[in-house]
Amino acid sequence: MPLYLVGGPVRDMLLGRTSADLDLVVEGDATRLATEVAQDLAAEVVTHRRFGTATIKVDQQRLDLATARHETYSRPGALPKVTPGSINEDLRRRDFTINAMALGLSDPRTGELLDPLAGTADLEQGLIRVMHPGSFRDDATRIFRAVRYEQRLSFRLEPDTQRYLTQALDEGMLATVSADRLRRELGLMLSEEQPLQALMRAGNLGVLRSLYRPLGNASWLGSFSQSRERTQPLVLVAALAYPLTPNEGEAFISRLNMPSRWAAVVRDLTQLKVLQDSLAAPQLSSSSLYHLLEGRSIASISALLHLTPSPVTQERLTNYLEHLRYVRPVLRGKDLVSLGVPQGPKVGQVLRQLKDARLEGRVTTRREEADLALKCLAAREG
Ligand code: ATP
Repeated sequence: MPLYLVGGPVRDMLLGRTSADLDLVVEGDATRLATEVAQDLAAEVVTHRRFGTATIKVDQQRLDLATARHETYSRPGALPKVTPGSINEDLRRRDFTINAMALGLSDPRTGELLDPLAGTADLEQGLIRVMHPGSFRDDATRIFRAVRYEQRLSFRLEPDTQRYLTQALDEGMLATVSADRLRRELGLMLSEEQPLQALMRAGNLGVLRSLYRPLGNASWLGSFSQSRERTQPLVLVAALAYPLTPNEGEAFISRLNMPSRWAAVVRDLTQLKVLQDSLAAPQLSSSSLYHLLEGRSIASISALLHLTPSPVTQERLTNYLEHLRYVRPVLRGKDLVSLGVPQGPKVGQVLRQLKDARLEGRVTTRREEADLALKCLAAREG
């Protein structure tokens, strides 16, 4: 069976970049080949006969094998009709020219670069180019992929490709893709090396507005301070929700059928926005600040820290993230019981009072905590 290395690894090899996974295509039955190879290597193999694909796992490495195939789309967003085909047909069904190259791995084509769509020329010029005008209509997830590769590789969208992309957005093509697939694409974008850049580009191209109208062009992300560390995907999910009201936040959650962790940061961020005046109020005690933020996801607080224009709020959120959230009384429940606090809810109440006193700096030592605990007890008894 003629065997080829295809797509990402070929592109990355030509660019001198490393690739995580190896994608292989055979002109023949990939599942049969994968099963035999896995037997020889005593490796694990997962096959999907229906799709003609298989994954071999060897030493933490994945080897994806697919049967070369020909695809046609009956309507936008529909799953393509797939039939076995030649390597050339397989390359033509792909998203961009730079992803449509193959390297022969078996004789007589060992070492031969197959580049029927002039991908190398686009690699040299730094262009992301689709194969045909209807590409984004066939599969609108390619819109996200285009932005992702463009930003990752510091390339440009080839002008016609950009026009097709904008047209597909104007025609509402994102609506032809399921919420789960859209969320997966957004998640991949957020996991890139430079996710903020990709998000802002998606905003400028109108991708985010098309995803959920109130996101507009996400211009607020421009004030997101660029730190050297990579921003966590969840922080960016929260940041996207910055201009949204709590109701819009709920609609955004449904639009992408968000899993609970994503939904939680969106909810937290929109609720924190409602509390912005309280967070910036003069004379806010450390314990009141703590209780405003307590239990909210760290990702949402970090996002607000990046986005709030108020220096006072910034300072308070930093104080919470770096210090206040770690504050605990030294005394534990059992210590309070041995000091005479009765078992039951009273222990929790006294612990909370000790924590507030710690937060406000009214107690700093174990001794002072014990004195305060006894005072609370006396107050109750008196
Ligand atoms: P990376 O994993 O580094 O983002 P990759 O090129 O390996 O890049 P995959 O998402 O693993 O990306 O896809 C493998 C290949 O499959 C791509 O190179 C491309 O040729 C093809 N491909 C993936 N998604 C699509 C799509 N939506 N439409 C057409 N071809 C696609």
